[in-house]
Amino acid sequence: MTQKPPVQVALTFDFDAYSTWIGSHNATSPSMLSRGEFGPVGVRRILPLLERFGIKATFFVPGHTALAFPSAVCAIRDGGHEIGHHGWVHENPVLLSPDEERHVLLRGLEALEQVAGVRPTGYRSPAWDNSSATVPLLLEHGFEYESSMMGHDYEPYWCRVGDAWSKTEAFEFGTPVDLVELPVAWHLDDFPHFEFMAGALPGGRAPSSVLETWIAEFDYLHDRVGEGVLVVTMHPQIIGRGSRMLMLEQFIAHVASRPNAGFTSCIDYVSHWRQGRTPSLPPR
Ligand SMILES: [Zn+2]
Repeated sequence: MTQKPPVQVALTFDFDAYSTWIGSHNATSPSMLSRGEFGPVGVRRILPLLERFGIKATFFVPGHTALAFPSAVCAIRDGGHEIGHHGWVHENPVLLSPDEERHVLLRGLEALEQVAGVRPTGYRSPAWDNSSATVPLLLEHGFEYESSMMGHDYEPYWCRVGDAWSKTEAFEFGTPVDLVELPVAWHLDDFPHFEFMAGALPGGRAPSSVLETWIAEFDYLHDRVGEGVLVVTMHPQIIGRGSRMLMLEQFIAHVASRPNAGFTSCIDYVSHWRQGRTPSLPPR
């Protein structure tokens, strides 16, 4: 078996479909919902592209999506890709009570089990906004990692419980726990670049400008840092549009052309990173 290249790229796809419009944006019209209906169209374009380059990716799937588009979710599974948890109907955990958060976690697990027979070990918070109950809840349900925070760029780190902060006292670090954070970043997410949201996001950026940013983030990792993982976040309903699919293809080709780089699913990278490490605080 060959050694994995030291630089890895994790392509991640949040298959929100209808759920983000219902759960996060309180959709009131079929028109708004139809943005999500494009999700499975995107999935059917993304899967052959990944196959062409021999890439295993990670798809974070809300339970609501699994029930709405079971064939697409099973096609993701059958392509050998990892399926992670992404809420029930894309709820923001910060807006839920701990009991409600537990309920939606269980409902998401149940739907993924029912539709695809999978039990995820990875979690990504809808809206990338964990509550203080999220990490303990994930530990309780056997998750290996979560991917919603931004404390590093190219290196995973350990999640913590019990951080305390205020405007008057010094920051108190909580206890590092056996849950790995695989960090994300807004500029490595297709949503704010491309999606139009009236009064909030202009959307519609030229794919070439986003490609430039993503390639530069990768090049810094590859040429200067030399070891680590770059996590890119996409949504089938956004990246699946033609101009952006061509951009994704170019990004993949750039990574594939570099000597010390490869592609990884999130869980594969996390399993590799965990070896020989135990929970600890970040360097201070
Ligand atoms: Zn999402």
